[in-house]
Amino acid sequence: MKKIALMGSTGSVGTQTLDVVRKYPNKLKVFALSANSNIDLLFKQIKEFKPEIVGVFDTKKAQKLQKKVKIKVLSGKDMLEKIAEMKNYDTFITATVGLTIIKATIIAIQNKKNVAIANKETLVAAGEIVMQEAKKNNVQLMPIDSEHSALFQCLNGENKKTIKSLVITCSGGALRDYTKEDLKNVSIKDALGHKTWAMGQKITIDSATLMNKGFEVIEAMWLYDVKPENIQVVIHPESLIHSMIEFSDNSIIAQISEPDMKLPIQYALSYPDRWDEAVKRHSFNRSYSFKKPDLERFPCLGYAWKAMKIGGTMPAAMNAANDTMVNKFLNGQCQYLDISKIIKKVMNSHKSIKNPSLDDIEKAIQEATKLTNKFAKN
Ligand code: MG
Repeated sequence: MKKIALMGSTGSVGTQTLDVVRKYPNKLKVFALSANSNIDLLFKQIKEFKPEIVGVFDTKKAQKLQKKVKIKVLSGKDMLEKIAEMKNYDTFITATVGLTIIKATIIAIQNKKNVAIANKETLVAAGEIVMQEAKKNNVQLMPIDSEHSALFQCLNGENKKTIKSLVITCSGGALRDYTKEDLKNVSIKDALGHKTWAMGQKITIDSATLMNKGFEVIEAMWLYDVKPENIQVVIHPESLIHSMIEFSDNSIIAQISEPDMKLPIQYALSYPDRWDEAVKRHSFNRSYSFKKPDLERFPCLGYAWKAMKIGGTMPAAMNAANDTMVNKFLNGQCQYLDISKIIKKVMNSHKSIKNPSLDDIEKAIQEATKLTNKFAKN
């Protein structure tokens, strides 16, 4: 029986993780849950999964929930860290959005817990630190993302030194077929019209700009220790091949399955075993197409390589600028094309710090956020 601490249990990956728990009551047990503010759903989850402890980021909502439940409700800034340092669980799952979980993830690694990462910011902003800790503590990080899970599966039993390139697939997002002219007038609804994957709003916009793919490229660089120039992205609209690895003999191994997050979630929890039927069986009565991404129409993807090559705090600054701009776009405060335009400006102004500490990263993020707001106003 694996005991899990699921952080971000009310979000998209969180609720799908609980679907997996529901399916395997003899293999998985919930030790802890946490939510940002959705205490109605968290209350239902407490009743069903009976965790020993929960956390709610919003202090007022935490107090409200505490009145309704017998178990302890933690709250406040270091709530995630407090849960991470607890002894009685096996796997720490990071399904939250944003940077707040990075410290907690490092604590879980230092306590030699299994760590399953769904949170993007962890490796994008702090990949160097997190991977160093994982190496030092001999902890295997399990990716909960279809692409990184695919790469992990393709690497099973292979020698990492024989990797020629990682080939990360990309649906192309909602605006895949828009011309340069069309992109000038993209509405929020257009950008949210993502078809193949069911995801949250922020990540759907990131999929439309291909910034999400850029983040995944950076995460893959850290997870599989490859050079930026040895990572390729291919547009694969059907989202059936979730990524591939090209080896030194030019053989390419791909991972294929129906597009459903339950596979990477379940695999991250079952590894090194496989449990039955994570998703429905694949049927081969379809075609699979590939093409190269157009970096002129989707410049955000190209920024990832620039950020990786500069390194240091640059990826964190890029991430912060993107966060701020996507928020503005979703609130109707800027145009679609402003997202990439302003991120570029912020990256050009940011002075990257090499081998950053977590404090350096936090400072870089604050500074980049300020810059983004300033540039977006002008
Ligand atoms: Mg993905």
